[in-house]
Amino acid sequence: MSEQTTALVTGANKGIGYEIAAGLGAFGWRVGVGARDEQRRDAAVARLRAGGVDAFGVPLDVTDDASVAAAANVIEERAGRLDVLVNNAGITGGAPQMPTTVDVATMLAVVETNVIGVIRVTNAMLPMLRRSSAPRIVNVSSSVGSLSRQSSPDADTGPIAVAYAPSKSFLNAVTIQYAKELAGTNILINAVCPGFVATDLNGHRGTGTAQQGAATPIRLATLPDAGPSGGFFDDAGMVPW
Ligand code: NAP
Repeated sequence: MSEQTTALVTGANKGIGYEIAAGLGAFGWRVGVGARDEQRRDAAVARLRAGGVDAFGVPLDVTDDASVAAAANVIEERAGRLDVLVNNAGITGGAPQMPTTVDVATMLAVVETNVIGVIRVTNAMLPMLRRSSAPRIVNVSSSVGSLSRQSSPDADTGPIAVAYAPSKSFLNAVTIQYAKELAGTNILINAVCPGFVATDLNGHRGTGTAQQGAATPIRLATLPDAGPSGGFFDDAGMVPW
């Protein structure tokens, strides 16, 4: 088996995912750039490689069973191992997203990508992760998925978004269920809010940079063996569920 720690970052062709890939690559890790669009994937890999990162492209649509199975094969063939999985790919489903007028297709698409996609990718990668000596799974969630904050009249949780925000609550709940099943193994799995950072996802209205957004996901991807599992974190610490 290769001695090089290997990570897969989903949705790594741009935004926060790209910066997570760059940050993990800076540790000398091999990084799979999971992305569905070939041109954007190749461009991201080339940019990462120009920056000294041992990056390789992983064709990946998290909503597609066959694509995810093929992605696992690509990693097995290219790296022979997987130590860290960052489930970063996500969509908002657009705006406005009012509960009384949302269409079912939007609800399904957002849940399919932000929740089912994470389960699909995680389960396909688990056989490789289980062979690692320090497997870590990071689910990129959002503080808008915090039910405590959503139900607090004082918290600023942004615009009403009946698909996006609950999809992140769902993802948080799924993360806890994984942590419970995987307790007693060496796999640590956590959810993270990267903060409000400027990317295509929010029309670059975020107040931080994508690089800043990558910092806490990178910290969770590199947790020591005694680190937490089943938690929800941002750069200030634990986020209330
Ligand atoms: P972004 O720039 O829009 O990047 C999203 C990435 O996800 C893109 O690479 C996109 O690929 C990929 N993706 C979407 N659907 C996919 C699919 N079916 N299969 C594979 N890849 C897919 O957004 P971002 O801000 O970096 O968001 C990254 C994560 O952070 C998301 O989970 C988001 O919910 C979360 N987040 C962001 C913020 C923020 O302020 N930006 C705040 C909280 C949480 P394509 O180029 O192919 O579309």
